[in-house]
Amino acid sequence: MKCEELLAALGDYLDGSLDPEVYESFREHLEGCCPCEVVIDNIRQTITLYKCGQTVELPCELHQHLRHLLRERWEAMFPSQEA
Ligand SMILES: [Zn+2]
Repeated sequence: MKCEELLAALGDYLDGSLDPEVYESFREHLEGCCPCEVVIDNIRQTITLYKCGQTVELPCELHQHLRHLLRERWEAMFPSQEA
């Protein structure tokens, strides 16, 4: 799995609806990719805070926003990496 694929699978991962097979690759990639690990950690914290404050459901809008935000950060962090 590439960083880009991990980001693409992120929504399902957060939903807990990730394919078991994909989940394996996801975990494997995370173990070997520090930047992705940091991103996931950040998201986990964000979601935990969000859950504490309000509801358990992640609204679609937030998903979209998170993805957009991540993509922007990603491109800023790794400008040389092709999508
Ligand atoms: Zn990665």
